Amino acid sequence: MEQAEALRLASITRRGAVLLGRLVEADGFAGRLVRVVTHAHDDHLGGLSSSVRRALFVAATPTTFRFLEILGRSVPEHKRLPLPYEQPVSVKEETITLHEARHIAGSAQVEVEGPKYRVGYTGDFKMPGTEPMRGLDVLVIDATYGSPASQRRWGEWDALAALLELVEEGLRRGTVYIYGFNGKLQEVMVELRLRGVTAPFAADPRTIQLARVASEFYSVNVEPLIGYDSMVDGEPVVVFAHTNRFRSMRRRPGVHIRLTGMELRGIVVRVSENVFNVSFSDHASFKEVIEYVEEAKPGLVIVDAYRGREARFTAKYIERRLGIPALALP
Ligand SMILES: [Zn+2]
Repeated sequence: MEQAEALRLASITRRGAVLLGRLVEADGFAGRLVRVVTHAHDDHLGGLSSSVRRALFVAATPTTFRFLEILGRSVPEHKRLPLPYEQPVSVKEETITLHEARHIAGSAQVEVEGPKYRVGYTGDFKMPGTEPMRGLDVLVIDATYGSPASQRRWGEWDALAALLELVEEGLRRGTVYIYGFNGKLQEVMVELRLRGVTAPFAADPRTIQLARVASEFYSVNVEPLIGYDSMVDGEPVVVFAHTNRFRSMRRRPGVHIRLTGMELRGIVVRVSENVFNVSFSDHASFKEVIEYVEEAKPGLVIVDAYRGREARFTAKYIERRLGIPALALP
């Protein structure tokens, strides 16, 4: 397929809408017939209310719709097109399928198939656990870590092991505070329960509601979940709070742990007496982004430069190392 033709079938607008085929806009508004929401993170919800007004349907996984509701970004019932993974739906001449993406509960990759083309968008993802969409004419890919300079030198499992150790040690002395973004917090709750942490988890009502949805999604029981007002002085508890609560909560007695994908100095960095950064990301590393493309072997790659900062470098690297035409947009 000619590049000009390919770019008519997939591209990214200046406002971050990923255009797929002729009918679909994903993660941004562009006035198309179908809006897809890959997952419930803010940088993928741009223009959602405009899409709700203009599009015929808003498509997302059932879990993402529940997350949106809790986050106050609810889509009216009559516009919702809940799409479980691997259940294609046809709209006019195109078929839309959501595939699982490991990122937060409900995250999806989008594939759009038309009469003579197949294009797809990964949304946010990490590896392993995200099955590459193979043989597409155009692949739009997220590259949050777009160059070797932002490559972490350890794996996610090392980070989880380090986190577990900090949490267990902290619980022996009292309260542990964990700060992160929506989605990541709930995933960490699941991981800690799987690794035998039984202390109650305390959080605000919204974080608890999201945790209950995530708990169903991952089929892991994360109870007991309690509100801040049910915390008993001196009893071990893990408090989960949004990253932006760190400043106001950091002086409280206990161990404070910030989950951050931006910490590249080490797995665990002690910032002060009782404050630690744990390098825990929910995005593929640079190497994993390249591995994804290598397995997927698309005709053309578009690297998302709206959400990733080193997309131009990534595109060049893909062209040179893999010999697959690539460019960064917008
Ligand atoms: Zn995300």
